[in-house]
Amino acid sequence: MSHIPIEHDQMRKVTEARPALRQLIGTARSTEELLHELQVYQIELEMQNQELRRTQLVIEKMRDRYVDLYELAPVGHLTLNRDGLIIELNLTGAEMMGVERSKMINRHFSSFVCSGNADRWYLHFRDILQRDGRQQCELAMQHSDGSYLQVNVTSLKSADLLSSRTIDQLSNPDDPLNTSVQLRIVLTDITERIVAETELRIAASAFETQESLMITDPNGIILRVNKAFTETTGYSAEEAIGRYPSMLTSGHHDGDFYRSMWEIIHATGTWQGEIWDRRKNGEIYPKWLTIWAVKGDNDIVTHYVGAHSDITERKRAEEEIKHLAFYDHLTGLPNRRLLQDRLQHALASSERRGRAGALMFIDLDNFKTLNDTLGHDIGDKLLQQVAKRLELCVREGDTVARLGGDEYVILLEDLSLELLEAAAQAEAIGEKILFSLNQKYILATHEYYNSPSIGVTLFIGHEYVSEDLFKHADLAMYQAKKSGRNTLRFFDPEMQKSIDSRSSIEGQLRKALENKEFQLYYQIQVDSSGNPVGAEALIRWIHPERGMVSPAQFIPLAEESGLIVSIGGWVLDTACAQILTWQKSKQTSNLILSVNVSSKQFRQVNFVNEVQNAIQRHGIKPNLLKLELTESLLLDKIEEAIATMKSLKAIGVRISLDDFGTGYSSLQYLKRLPLDQLKIDQSFVRDIAIDESDKAIVQTIIVMAKSLKLEVIAEGVETDEQRHFLESAGCVHYQGYLFGKPMPIEQLEAFLYKN
Ligand code: C2E
Ligand code: CA
Ligand code: CA
Repeated sequence: MSHIPIEHDQMRKVTEARPALRQLIGTARSTEELLHELQVYQIELEMQNQELRRTQLVIEKMRDRYVDLYELAPVGHLTLNRDGLIIELNLTGAEMMGVERSKMINRHFSSFVCSGNADRWYLHFRDILQRDGRQQCELAMQHSDGSYLQVNVTSLKSADLLSSRTIDQLSNPDDPLNTSVQLRIVLTDITERIVAETELRIAASAFETQESLMITDPNGIILRVNKAFTETTGYSAEEAIGRYPSMLTSGHHDGDFYRSMWEIIHATGTWQGEIWDRRKNGEIYPKWLTIWAVKGDNDIVTHYVGAHSDITERKRAEEEIKHLAFYDHLTGLPNRRLLQDRLQHALASSERRGRAGALMFIDLDNFKTLNDTLGHDIGDKLLQQVAKRLELCVREGDTVARLGGDEYVILLEDLSLELLEAAAQAEAIGEKILFSLNQKYILATHEYYNSPSIGVTLFIGHEYVSEDLFKHADLAMYQAKKSGRNTLRFFDPEMQKSIDSRSSIEGQLRKALENKEFQLYYQIQVDSSGNPVGAEALIRWIHPERGMVSPAQFIPLAEESGLIVSIGGWVLDTACAQILTWQKSKQTSNLILSVNVSSKQFRQVNFVNEVQNAIQRHGIKPNLLKLELTESLLLDKIEEAIATMKSLKAIGVRISLDDFGTGYSSLQYLKRLPLDQLKIDQSFVRDIAIDESDKAIVQTIIVMAKSLKLEVIAEGVETDEQRHFLESAGCVHYQGYLFGKPMPIEQLEAFLYKN
């Protein structure tokens, strides 16, 4: 300790200033003592000063720390005045809004609040002013970069420390002088928490979707399921949690299925596909399942999620669509598309196994007539019943299909290895079908009989493509029709040959007219005394290579191709020319010439005109021309047909109903038809002497014709016996080989003049 010399007047000053010192001096025993005491005091004083400086430093440090705490606090601190203007804020507060602190001062706090939350802020602000204690609210604030942040606002009202007014005075909002109120606001950024909460909420609501969801741990133990899961599987969450998903296994898939499924999940992290599961109630149902692995940051699987939707409905719709696409809606039988598909399979399997198969075309005889007379509803009933009967005739693996209309196709598979034996098997089934379809049908109130024509073709392996097989069976069926219907025919290459020539014939037929290859033959018609009354003109095609072709062969072709219209025109013209020749000669002037008119020709809109033109062109008496119409020609649009016939009658030509008795539909119209003649079909005449029912039919026709005041003529009369019966029944006009075959005009005229 160093001695500090002290002067007397210095001492005086000190003692004056310091009463404690004075006291000290007063109590000093000697100067020595006094000096010593003083020195001690001086030292103590020095120490106190040092202590004070230290304390000052501590306080400064503490203040710095407080400023740091204030500025860098994780929350925003703001002070607002009672108008809501920011008067002070910490750095964090400014950073939260992304605005420089100085630029926030003196701005309204509300200008940082998102417009959608303006009302909420206003209410909060009002509450703070009116109430004591802290207030809280959550606000969305607008960051300067355009983003939003969610903040929790804690506010407290306080007095301006500089104000002399008491808190009580300040609390009174009505106090007009209450201007020094301040609001201390703490802003906590809760954006992350809100985002997380929202995500959780979204996740939770997404979890409760239509789709069944199941979450398992990495070992496959079910941790969580949603409501949809409970609804589809029937298992409640309590029942499912803690168990393995194998609780749903249906047994529909084998171990390999699940093994490969898990291999894919391990390899790619996900799998999806159709899977059949079992509900709690035992029902097995299809679902579309997606499984994916959820991995943590370290790429280790933490969970598996299984999402599935019940696709029972979708499956049902698929089935429905498949049904519409592959099945005939009237009969429920497979349609052409499905048949094609099955045929492809059948060919492949036949190739593999060497077994024969057969394709069978079945066409109902006279179906169109039934449809036209009794209506489509009844027709549909027949088609349905036929379908049922056909299905009963075949074995399980065979296919019965309907192609449309009255056409059915049967595909027989797995027949014999030997073609001949296979043919016998197919024929046996065909016979069964013939028998079955000949049985009585009950269609609503109608009893009905029908028969089919069946064409069969056999196949082994891929010798023929399916289209060929369809063609073959169709040709065979056509052959069955031709040989009198209600029968079965096999396709054979010979048949094919004759059909191949069909198309070349059509080409030649087109040229036949310009090449003048047609000729009219005439077949005489006589009365009961054998006198000629007229003739029927019958067309012949004198083919340059084939020789004479019968109209039975080419008329149907001409009808199909439409050529019949021009051919018919030629016939009419040639016939009228012949009538003119006859008309001029006394011996033949009363002969009536009959001309066959085909349906297509008759339906031409200008047919009546054409007839009239021909008559006028040749200048013939119209009543010497007779048009032969068939019953089938009158079948549809009967009213139109009657109108055409009436126009023809008005011209003066005669009309005969050809092949009478083979159809039955127009009987009810017979009275209304402006006819001159019925021509009894030759099929009745043929068996007239031996078949009692044909006899009865012919007698009935004759009686009916008489009652309708119609002339009646029988065609196909070949024997005297037939002629006598007809005469005794009252039929006095005849046509047939007995009197003369169809012949060229020169022969006929020689014949006429001879008599
Ligand atoms: P259709 O009108 O019924 O003609 C009668 C057919 O019976 C003729 O056959 C005739 O030769 C044949 N026939 C006549 N008498 C007898 C007989 O006593 N016994 C037998 N078994 N047959 C007899 P064709 O000439 O072959 O004519 C066949 C069919 O061709 C005709 O049947 C007719 O529908 C059609 N046709 C013939 N010429 C024409 C024509 O110019 N135009 C049209 N559209 N069709 C024609
Ligand atoms: Ca005829
Ligand atoms: Ca006839």
